[in-house]
Amino acid sequence: MSIAVYPGSFDPITLGHLNIIRRAAAVFDTLYVCVMINSDKQPLFSREERVEFIERTVVRYKNVKVESSEELLVKYMRSRGARVMIKGLRAVSDFDKEFQIALINRKLDPGIETLFMPSSEKYTYLSSSAVKEMTRYGADLKTFVPNEIIGDIIRKVENEGLMFK
Ligand code: ADP
Repeated sequence: MSIAVYPGSFDPITLGHLNIIRRAAAVFDTLYVCVMINSDKQPLFSREERVEFIERTVVRYKNVKVESSEELLVKYMRSRGARVMIKGLRAVSDFDKEFQIALINRKLDPGIETLFMPSSEKYTYLSSSAVKEMTRYGADLKTFVPNEIIGDIIRKVENEGLMFK
């Protein structure tokens, strides 16, 4: 059985993430999407919200499971029997950082492989931070995030007092 993990902050999930999930789920028997706690980033959405948003948008993919972890990623992967980590690459600018992380993870656990999946050309410009910024300006989010979560994103930004008037 082939098992892969797709880690990220998903703050919130975008159509770019969803595109990677759909393609990875078509290649592996089971795909764990894992919401990670990144100490460099102060997330807008709680861990529970981020997990729930992803769950809502992947219901049609029966082999996708959504979880969150505070553990070292390679340890989490071992606990799920996964040897492959999926990383989406938008542009060369993603590469340096992701390459470094892949080498560190291989040092930590030589049994783990990182697979880079090129972003669909439709979504190379898209990031969670851009989505949050556009929400503050009241932009239409239809082409950036799954429909199921648009209302929740706008509500959160409004409730946090982050809308530009
Ligand atoms: P960000 O905050 O930069 O949007 P995350 O930490 O949530 O991203 O990213 C999780 C993973 O998804 C990373 O491997 C990242 O490179 C990838 N990713 C993010 N946005 C896209 C996109 N638009 N297309 C393809 N992959 C993406």
